[in-house]
Amino acid sequence: MIELDDGLVSWVGNLRRWFHRYPEPSFEERKTQEKVIEVLNGLGIEHRPAGGTGVIATVYGKGKGKTIALRTDMDALRIQEAETALNGGYRSNNAGVMHACGHDGHMAMVLGAARWLQEHRESLAGHVRLIFQPAEEVPPGGAGGMIDAGCLEGVDAIIGVHIFGNMPLDRIGFRPGPFMASSRTFTVTINGKPGHHMCPQDSVDPIQIAARFIDTIQTDIRQRLNPNARYVLGFGEVRSGMQHNQTPAEAKVVGTFRAYDVRDSETIVSAIMANLEGLMRAFAKPDISGLPAYRLDAEPAYPPLVNDPAFTRRAAGILKSAFSDVDDEMDPNLGAEDFACYLQKVPGLFMFLGGGNPGRGITAMNHSDRFDMDEDALPTGIKALLTLTRDFLDNPEPYLRK
Ligand SMILES: [Zn+2]
Ligand SMILES: [Zn+2]
Repeated sequence: MIELDDGLVSWVGNLRRWFHRYPEPSFEERKTQEKVIEVLNGLGIEHRPAGGTGVIATVYGKGKGKTIALRTDMDALRIQEAETALNGGYRSNNAGVMHACGHDGHMAMVLGAARWLQEHRESLAGHVRLIFQPAEEVPPGGAGGMIDAGCLEGVDAIIGVHIFGNMPLDRIGFRPGPFMASSRTFTVTINGKPGHHMCPQDSVDPIQIAARFIDTIQTDIRQRLNPNARYVLGFGEVRSGMQHNQTPAEAKVVGTFRAYDVRDSETIVSAIMANLEGLMRAFAKPDISGLPAYRLDAEPAYPPLVNDPAFTRRAAGILKSAFSDVDDEMDPNLGAEDFACYLQKVPGLFMFLGGGNPGRGITAMNHSDRFDMDEDALPTGIKALLTLTRDFLDNPEPYLRK
């Protein structure tokens, strides 16, 4: 079991509070980047800025073994932090911006792990890449830019951890395979032909077409997806019309869909298109050419997050032997994370860490203006990262088995 001395634990707690006081929104993490660089300089760890406001660093061990990456996100949210009984000493100094998703804690944990690794580098069988990534919260996200900047060069595997305020303190949760979803926003624009309600034969009604689309799309998707595939599609906005007795020219339907498999996500897009093609034919009139027409915009988003099965199996065994509360069969969830982009390139594991503590009044879920974490979760997270890092560098084979 890896032990952390009190000096390191309080250093990490102070770092978390510094990051919490100076939160910066996605792609604007300039002071945060400066702070990370300052800390790495103090530790004597090689680093370079990357991906705009990110940082790539490496701790070189003595051995010539594998390289594992530890990733943290850096960005905060545009939320005004509430005053709570706990956060008086470290509430956000930046109006309207708040570390409400725990990324302050993630940075502090990776820097804590970095300090321990640097102090123990003589005994490391390989190397450790440290990835400080901007902009997890806003698609297209910062992971792509970090990968383009070479953060995975020479990397054999990757791990990441996310703190959740609604999970009990110190619980570690994950599952092999699909763990988080891909979420995509879609906008359907339907063009009809406007006209007075007294002459319906001369107009094409986009509202009726939108209504038919909303009514039939779920059935059409089910006809095309494997019945075991899990997905949700929801509507968030329907907009059309200005005048009670006039058929409008256009209707818009906006929504999101989430799935655990990229192929399912593509199937949903093709089902939406096929449905709309059918509606265009059904509502066409011989005397009105070129209408109705539609446009579908389905924005690319984060891919589904898939934990590598072999890596996760080995990690589960190792974590269970070192920690008392490990759930390696956690239910998949329909949240989305750009850590998924790294897992498309190298095997690895993304785990959740409980930071809630009802006894201390810490119960708010991430993205709440009252979100906080029990800082006792930080040493647990660091130990989990270090336990897996060490074991991977000493015994990479079971992690990388195909
Ligand atoms: Zn978040
Ligand atoms: Zn987050």
